[in-house]
Amino acid sequence: MRCAAPLIRTAGNALAPAEAGKRRLCIVNYHRILHKPDPLLDSEPTVDTFRWQMDLLASCFNVLPLGEAITRLGNGSLPPRAVAITFDDGYRTVHELALPILRERGLPATVFVTSGHIEDESSMWNDVILEAVRRSHDSAIDLRDIGMDVYPLADTAQCKASAAAMTERCKYLTPEARDTMLRRLQQLAREDLTQHLMLTADMIRELMQYRIEIGGHTVTHPILARLDDDRAFREIADGKHHLERVTGRPVELFAYPNGKQGVDFDQRHVEMVKSAGYRAAFTTAVGAASGRDHPYQLPRSRPWDARPLMFALRLLRWLGEEQ
Ligand SMILES: [Zn+2]
Repeated sequence: MRCAAPLIRTAGNALAPAEAGKRRLCIVNYHRILHKPDPLLDSEPTVDTFRWQMDLLASCFNVLPLGEAITRLGNGSLPPRAVAITFDDGYRTVHELALPILRERGLPATVFVTSGHIEDESSMWNDVILEAVRRSHDSAIDLRDIGMDVYPLADTAQCKASAAAMTERCKYLTPEARDTMLRRLQQLAREDLTQHLMLTADMIRELMQYRIEIGGHTVTHPILARLDDDRAFREIADGKHHLERVTGRPVELFAYPNGKQGVDFDQRHVEMVKSAGYRAAFTTAVGAASGRDHPYQLPRSRPWDARPLMFALRLLRWLGEEQ
């Protein structure tokens, strides 16, 4: 990849709009980093994959802290091939596996933390489902008594499909129905499904010493569109205040849980994020952000290509798209 770097930089300069004010910003978006491949989490990068991706970003792109990048997107002073790195949810592997790689390369990043897991070290609901599948000794998880289905677990393919089906179903449940489902999984497992996967307050403060910025991602990671307005605002505002107490700094950037505009959040939530005091917010729409995008609905995505050259070319294509 090192020998291709000058080529990628030249191609990037040629593709990017010549006028600095029309340049785009690619905001790449990770969740957790894995120690080794996991068939139930095959969209998440291993530490080896993350390492080559960071090598590539460090050698071919201009990686900026997200807060600075948003300011420069607004005032038209972005450099060519501008990228910002983000992580959602606040997984502990950001501290354990990603931080040493980012530090070695001097790369800044932002972590959007779901604040409700910091003190009690509880797991995100999607990880409770995964762990229930992983640890089950039964041939299926039967949730018919709470109005759901039977989820078969005969082999890895079934485990993966069942975890995905339960996750998709759980995602759009009300918070109460989601809790009922998680309690039932916990009962069926007959052992504690919590794994201490999320960042602690000390880890968050340590990340901040190394160019890692902390952003808001609500308290409990609900689908905002499924909540009444009071509750949605409390999730947005309380998460911000909680993180400000932990970090001792203003928390200015927000990522919508799940992030699909019109499905997971709507215009009401955009207004709530603004009135809670955030200065920019991020969706999960594919592509690069342009100066014409709404500052509270900036797209964020990660090339899904497994080979470095294709990964770089997809980023360049997004950066070169016409406004
Ligand atoms: Zn999230």
